[in-house]
Amino acid sequence: MSVREDFASRNLAVLGSTGSIGRNALEVVSAVPGLKVWGLSGCQRLDLLCDQARQWPAAQIVAADGERAAAFTPPADLLSRWRVGSEQLVWMANHPEVDIVLAAIVGCAGLASTHAAVAAGKTIALANKESLVVAGQLLLPLAAKSGSKIVPVDSEHSAVWQAALAGRREEVERVVLTASGGPFRNLAPEQLSTVTPRDALAHPTWNMGPKITIDSATLLNKALEIIEAAWLFDLRPDQIEVMIHPQSIIHSLVEFRDGSVLAQLGPPDMRLPIQYALSHPHRVVGPARRMDWSARQSLELIPQNETQRAALQLGFEVIRRGGTAGAVLNAANEAAVAAFLAGNLGFQEIVTACREVLEQHQIIASPTLEQLLAADRWAREEIEAWIGCL
Ligand code: NAD
Ligand code: MG
Repeated sequence: MSVREDFASRNLAVLGSTGSIGRNALEVVSAVPGLKVWGLSGCQRLDLLCDQARQWPAAQIVAADGERAAAFTPPADLLSRWRVGSEQLVWMANHPEVDIVLAAIVGCAGLASTHAAVAAGKTIALANKESLVVAGQLLLPLAAKSGSKIVPVDSEHSAVWQAALAGRREEVERVVLTASGGPFRNLAPEQLSTVTPRDALAHPTWNMGPKITIDSATLLNKALEIIEAAWLFDLRPDQIEVMIHPQSIIHSLVEFRDGSVLAQLGPPDMRLPIQYALSHPHRVVGPARRMDWSARQSLELIPQNETQRAALQLGFEVIRRGGTAGAVLNAANEAAVAAFLAGNLGFQEIVTACREVLEQHQIIASPTLEQLLAADRWAREEIEAWIGCL
């Protein structure tokens, strides 16, 4: 049997196709036999969405933000495929013709479509970690019921997934998530007070959207990834370690019960984990960068410092507290990052504000989706009030 015959024909919806993950995904689609782009969605860059629609003439298109779409005139030749509004994301995510949903919207805005795709039993290639942070306790049981498979796109979780294939689930003792440490890894705490959005948006190894780039600088991205790992791999807090790895070559490690440690390595290029999420269990030749084995490689693994530990602790605390804690941390962080980018909050205050809002929150242990969304709204209001008191 040829390799191509091993691949079923599958329709892919790329939710958030105009973003960093979405654009990378469209570069790997052609490498995966049988994969067809059935849907595309974007929120802000509607010109780019139109360009993508022309490149993928069979794709349905969703412009997710009604207000922005109202101020934009789509070209006449695209009108028959053009839909507007966030509810159309849900239409696309659970459409019967869609097999795989790449969840690449940023933030809690991606939750409704991820939830719809999980409920409909789709395969979810999950970049939108915020969905799991906010609602892991609903999404995982729902996936078990619907038969939906959630596969990681996040590079660390893809690495854990790949390395863990070397043993059985019960043989995994702990995982080590690697973190680049962001651009301020070597700064003293007092130097962080003068950091500007421009400084924080200059990530040393990864080229990503603005929100996750700020999250990488504060280390809250890793806090969110700790929670994501706990949900995806059913891990307790004491089974998750974080090491600072400035080179971003070792994407994470899995330690088995015999003491053997396996890692997945590669250049920092999201096209590889995206492609693996779409091609697994196969591996295919794609456009991702390759290691240069003629060059000397120094791969450091450095323990966290105090500032980093303070941010990471928020992830562990959310796992321990459960319930609405993830929704609160995520929303507080989204609001704090937006305020920082708008010049209304200092860089160092992002983590402090998140911690204080989380501390004030009365946890609901087994929340409904509505209660999670209410906790999200409450946390955003608390951040506004916190900034108002500065
Ligand atoms: P981005 O800002 O570059 O793109 C976000 C996408 O979501 C865009 O298509 C945008 O139009 C859309 N969007 C934004 N707000 C929306 C809304 N309210 N409703 C509907 N659509 C909306 O972000 P990104 O860096 O591509 O990240 C996307 C997700 O992937 C995030 O959850 C991030 O944490 C995760 N992720 C990203 C990377 C990376 O390398 N960029 C790596 C790992 C995980
Ligand atoms: Mg990551």
